[in-house]
This record gives sequence, C-alpha cells and structure tokens, in this order.
Amino acid sequence: MKSVVTRFAPSPTGNLHLGGLRTALINYIIVESSKLKNQNSKFFIRIEDTDKKRSNDDYSKNILEGLKWLGINWERDPIIQSQRIDRHREIAFKLLENGKAFKCVCTFEELESKRIDNQKKQLNIKRLCNECEKNESIQQMEKNFCIRLKIPNHGKIEIEDKIQSIVSINNNEIDNYIILRNDSTPTYMLSVVVDDHDMGVNLIVRGDDHFNNAFRQIYIYKHMNWNIPTYAHIPLIHGEDGTKLSKRHGAIDIISLKKKGYLPQAIINNLILLGWSPKKDNEIININEIIESFNIEKMSKSSSIFSYKKLNYFNNHYIVLKDNFKYLEEFLNTNTVTKEYFVKDKNKVFDIFNIYKSKIEYYSQLEDIIKLYFNEAFRTKNNGILNDEFKLISKEFIVYLNKIQIWNEKNIENNISVFLQDNNINFKSFGKPMRYLLINSINGPSVSEILYALGKKNSFLRINNYINNIK
Ligand code: GLU
Repeated sequence: MKSVVTRFAPSPTGNLHLGGLRTALINYIIVESSKLKNQNSKFFIRIEDTDKKRSNDDYSKNILEGLKWLGINWERDPIIQSQRIDRHREIAFKLLENGKAFKCVCTFEELESKRIDNQKKQLNIKRLCNECEKNESIQQMEKNFCIRLKIPNHGKIEIEDKIQSIVSINNNEIDNYIILRNDSTPTYMLSVVVDDHDMGVNLIVRGDDHFNNAFRQIYIYKHMNWNIPTYAHIPLIHGEDGTKLSKRHGAIDIISLKKKGYLPQAIINNLILLGWSPKKDNEIININEIIESFNIEKMSKSSSIFSYKKLNYFNNHYIVLKDNFKYLEEFLNTNTVTKEYFVKDKNKVFDIFNIYKSKIEYYSQLEDIIKLYFNEAFRTKNNGILNDEFKLISKEFIVYLNKIQIWNEKNIENNISVFLQDNNINFKSFGKPMRYLLINSINGPSVSEILYALGKKNSFLRINNYINNIK
C-alpha cells in the first residue's frame, strides 16, 4: 500500500478550536490507520504564520499544547512557514521564467475601478489585469511589480475530491491571482502549494472553506509539473442554531474545554461522529477502534451539528472510568477552586467525586459541590420540609449516629436502617428532609453517602446547628 503523507496547517491567528482540532484529528487518524500497513506514512504540522500582523506565538503554543493533550502526535518539529519565504520566492521566479506567470503593475485603485465598471455592466469577469501580460516593457521591469499566475482562458478544471466527489469549474472563473506581492512577499496561495510539495504531502484534508482555493492552487502544481495531491475537503461544523460554530456557541477552544474539565476521549469521540458513523451498536468509540475503522470516503458531504449535550453525555461516560482518574487528579490539582481542598484532604475530595460522578458532566461542576462539603460555616436554610416533628427525629438520629465507631458508608447505612426500624419511621419521611438539612437540597446522593463524605465531625455540626436553631 502507498504511504500517505498529510499535514495540519493552522494559521496561528487564534486558539485551537473544535473545527481545527477535527481537521487535525482526521489527518492524524488517516495516517495512523495507513501506518498499520505502511510505516512510511507521515503526519506533519505546519504553522502558517506568514500573516505577521495577525499571527502570534501564543496561539501557536496553544494549538500545539491542545493537540498534545489530545494525544495527536506529529512527525518531527512543526514546520514554520515564515522560515521558508526564500523558497516560495524562488518558485515564483521559476514560474515567471517558465512563462507560467507574469509581472503586473496595476494598482489596487485601477483594478477596483475596473471591477466596479464590470459590475455596472453586469459582467462577471475574474481577470481584471489583462494588459500587463502583453506589455513587453512591464515584463522587462526589474522591480516594483507583483507576479500573477497564468491560468488558461478556455477549458475546465476538475477535482475528484474524496468527500465532495467530482466537481469541475470553468478556467475563466479563476482569476490570475497574485503569487508574489510587489514588496516581494509570497502570498498564502503560493506558500501552501510549495510547502505541501516540498514536504511530500500527497493527501490534503482540510475544511471545505478551502475547496475553492484547491482549483486555483492546482495550477501551480500543473505549471511546475509536480504531482497533484489527492484532496478531501471536510464540511464545516455548525452550532445547534445552524450557523458556523463560533465563540457564540460557548467555549469551543480546546484548552478552555480542558480547564472546564472535559476529557480528551470525550472530545475525540464526539468530534469523530460528526459526519461519520462507525456502524456499531452504541456511539462509544475509542481512538484505536477509530483508527481501525475510519474511512474518509464515508464522510457526509453536509455540515454536521455540534451539541454540548452530546459532548456532556460522552464526557460523563469517560469521567466514571477508573483509568481516567489521572485526569481527575490533574484537574483537582490545578483548578483554582478545588486545589485548596485537594491539598487539605485528598481522600475526602475523592469520596465526594465518587458519590457525584454519575451525575457530573465535566469536572468544574465539582467546584461548588466540594465547597459545600468542606464548608464548616454551613447553615441549613429555612424550608417547610423541616417541621417540628422532624426536629425531634433529628435529635433521636444523632443519638444513633453517635454509636458508629468506624465512619464508613456501610456502617452509616446499617445505622440508618436500625434507627428507622426502632422508631417506626418510613424512609420517605426521613430521606428528603435529612438530605435538605445536610446540603440544602432535597435532591442528591443518598443520605448515607452524604454523611460519609461530610465526615463525622461536619455531619454532627450540621445536624446540631439545625437542632439548636443556629443561623
Ligand atoms: N492555514 C489555513 C487555515 O488555517 C489552512 C491552509 C490549508 O489547509 O491548506 O485555514
């Protein structure tokens, strides 16, 4: 089987977000599954930082940190596009030398007025500069020109995309775009192609917002007699309101999701099912199973919807797995709220997690819960559920609780049963008010779990404060 070489080529103009991560993930998965048959397959990262005004090193760091956290590994060090400008320039001049490009001196204003003129005449003409190419003296100039790529006037160009299938457009719909600006800097269109060629990339998987660019970029490959890569343009992710996924839909940047307490497996599981189905009974799938069964050609052409509800469902599934406690520990140790309590009493924090884990969607939901269980100034709020009769019940209950030698869930549970039996109280009239007394909520874990996690001292304090009306 032929080796596959792919790349993820983010522009460091923002943090790594779900859309970018999905592109990186699919590239990585394709290469990992290809490696099962051909060890020479490779996945590269290229930082496209040529737009110096919008690019920022912190964004590059954020992108790489996010990928590493997700377990997406790449070949060697990332390639930095801005360090390859001389090579891009070299190719621009080679295209010029070979008659595949031409010098142009049109100003922005001149082209803009032509465009407006055409618009008035309702003409859709893509090539606005048509004199420079024929003008000998312009073609002899030594400086103050930009270089534009020549595109045939007639005929069509066709792409057989792995997701979008076969699409063709007329050549006259493609402009003679600039490859080298008049300040001698290469444009993104040129740099991408030169870098992909030099890196040996033979499969380009990226968002379908770049599909139009592919028809334009292909002409650089053709003019240079380079092998044209295979393309796969992935439909974008939308939010539940049908618009392109953005900050408006909540935290979509990966490191923020990490800080909120989402797990890599949940994010991967959720992202890979957007537009692809593994055809199994349930939706839980791990990275190894994905690598074994993923097929880019089976991806849907239409955009898919990202939902937090779904991500939360997956996250809860992975949160409860024992193997993932390392993520829990890292979260508790670094989160500004939980850190303090975790240092104070690790075991108590784990106990609290254990009684709440089935209901938790992401770790930061633990912040308020942990605070509640450690709060020594806790006071039960007034509530009709706590009446005089319940006060008497609580007084008696304290007597029973006092008999417990070893404070564990089993002993507490037994003690409650004996207490209820001895006093002929049914659990219904005891459970809800007692839970409310202990945590100011009628819903939550069982009373024995709450008492256990609170610890003996705190449980007594809360019940006695209530009995003695301490506010
Ligand atoms: N740097 C481009 C972007 O971040 C991607 C270019 C490509 O994948 O060809 O959108």
